[in-house]
Amino acid sequence: MVHTGIGYDVHQLVAGRKLILGGVEIPHTKGLDGHSDADVLMHAICDAILGALGEEDIGHFFPNTDPRWKGAPSKVFLQEAARQAKFREARIVNVDATIIAQEPKVYPHILEMKRHIAEALDISIQRVGIKATTNELMGFIGRGEGIAAMAVAGVDLPEPKVING
Ligand SMILES: [Zn+2]
Repeated sequence: MVHTGIGYDVHQLVAGRKLILGGVEIPHTKGLDGHSDADVLMHAICDAILGALGEEDIGHFFPNTDPRWKGAPSKVFLQEAARQAKFREARIVNVDATIIAQEPKVYPHILEMKRHIAEALDISIQRVGIKATTNELMGFIGRGEGIAAMAVAGVDLPEPKVING
């Protein structure tokens, strides 16, 4: 049975950080702030997969108080989500995500992002959807103070075994 999960994440844009989205370093005057590489897109996808599995969120698996994840590439989080799926004999059917960023233009990097995400999840690139939109200059995203991402995932889980009593 296919279960769906939803994920949302947001990080602040600050000077002196690299901007990493979907595992791709994108030239920009600012980067996303966070304990790991702050890859907001991979984080949202990770939470969508964990949600479809009925698991707790990314912060539970990778606490931002743990020095092991300081500056960590976020593909390790996706690899862990895929491992959690495999552990349950589940198959990731697809993931789909939207990046919400006023700047910079991310469209030219989307194919490369899909490649990174498909590789980290060990699924075909055809199963990965990524779109990008601006926030029409409104709110904190419109002012370039941060970037958000939302994602859904479909995960095919085996039927649960019926336990009597
Ligand atoms: Zn995050």
